[in-house]
Amino acid sequence: MKFELSRFVAAATLVLGLRGPCLAQPATPGADASTLFQNVRVFDGKSGAISGPTNVLVTGRTIARISNAPIVVDPNARTTVIAGNGRTLMPGLIDSHWHAMLVRPTAAAAINGDVGYVNLMAGAEATDTLMRGFTTVRDLGGPVFGLKRAIDEGLLVGPRIYPSGAMISITGGHGDFRQPFEVPRVLGGPLSRMEKIGGSMIADSPDEVRVRVREQLLLGASQIKLTAGGGVASPHSPLDVSTFTESELRAAVEAADNWGTYVTVHAYTPRAIQGAIAAGVKVIEHGHLMDEATARLMAEKGIWLSVQPFLDDEDAIPFPPDSSNRARALQVFQGPDNAYALAKRYKLKTAFGTDVLFSAALARRQGAQLAKLTRWYTPAELLTMATGTNGELLRLSGLRNPYPGKLGVVEEGALADLLLVEGNPIENIKLIEDPDRNFLVIMKDGKVYKNIVPR
Ligand SMILES: [Zn+2]
Repeated sequence: MKFELSRFVAAATLVLGLRGPCLAQPATPGADASTLFQNVRVFDGKSGAISGPTNVLVTGRTIARISNAPIVVDPNARTTVIAGNGRTLMPGLIDSHWHAMLVRPTAAAAINGDVGYVNLMAGAEATDTLMRGFTTVRDLGGPVFGLKRAIDEGLLVGPRIYPSGAMISITGGHGDFRQPFEVPRVLGGPLSRMEKIGGSMIADSPDEVRVRVREQLLLGASQIKLTAGGGVASPHSPLDVSTFTESELRAAVEAADNWGTYVTVHAYTPRAIQGAIAAGVKVIEHGHLMDEATARLMAEKGIWLSVQPFLDDEDAIPFPPDSSNRARALQVFQGPDNAYALAKRYKLKTAFGTDVLFSAALARRQGAQLAKLTRWYTPAELLTMATGTNGELLRLSGLRNPYPGKLGVVEEGALADLLLVEGNPIENIKLIEDPDRNFLVIMKDGKVYKNIVPR
């Protein structure tokens, strides 16, 4: 009998539910349902201005119409009408540097704790993240694929997730969480705990890098994260070290490019940043210790800067006072004023992220961390950064974009991730520090997750 491959594949798909990890569609897209926001002032995520009185119709998962004339809805359609009364309608916020799996657990629990418990913590945190108005996060390291799938399938309430999967490091680099007694590693031997759970992977040659990158792509990564220099929260790597060789970084870039996406690297120093750019990396995470020559190079090559407002304030990770982590954090805190000044001077494509680790309390200040950018930017500039600009960064995932469509903007045809704000955040940026009170409506993918507009 002739073997019919197509029939076999169809049957296997039916029985086993085989499908690519990126293809999962939300189970509750609100197919025909519509929401009409009447009499709102729109902050569109692009222009930096607030519009006059406007009406916005969301149909299904997208923004269908924006008009300053009244929008008449079909009386037979299921339309929820929200009276804006002059409040501000803006895009959902985007955090460009997040670790959904590492926000709540302690470092010890994240590395050694029960995997089920850590996953449930991440689920609870994902719901809170959405309820803070962050409708999308770009996840820069951690075993996040299951969480993303559960959210996309409607099993759990949470933001859209652009997953990197495991961050890829070298022996001794940022992301190598092994204990000294686990050295030496036997090449081809057993994996360390963090590798087994998919938190980070260690790779020490171009060939190993290629395998690790391709594994994350197989699992559904929308971009690839490598750690090109030392870090603050890592146990072994001094801040100044450059980790991967150029050929190792290039192997990652080629593998990601073959898959239609890009590599971003964790890097603080000019040497680590410049080495990564030479290898074809498109985004720099952090960059706080960059110099003028590096900023100029980034501008010339169109490299993105995904930077966080790391200062020695209430948002600093509370490392023990005498620890090397604290010493390295103090070095980094010297950087942001200079880094943001260079980003502005050279008009770098600059994204906003928080990189919250190991603290639910710090996560609750996610919006407050954005408001803190008034140290360097106007309210309109920083809100544009966390919406339209971050949305542009997400589209770098190209063919591996898990949510094709426009995010971070209020425009016809864009995906309907929206916040209705009590007041005007351009005039009073402090409004975004208290999302419970001031974000009256939170919509993601056309679905209303919160509506406390007084009736
Ligand atoms: Zn990070």
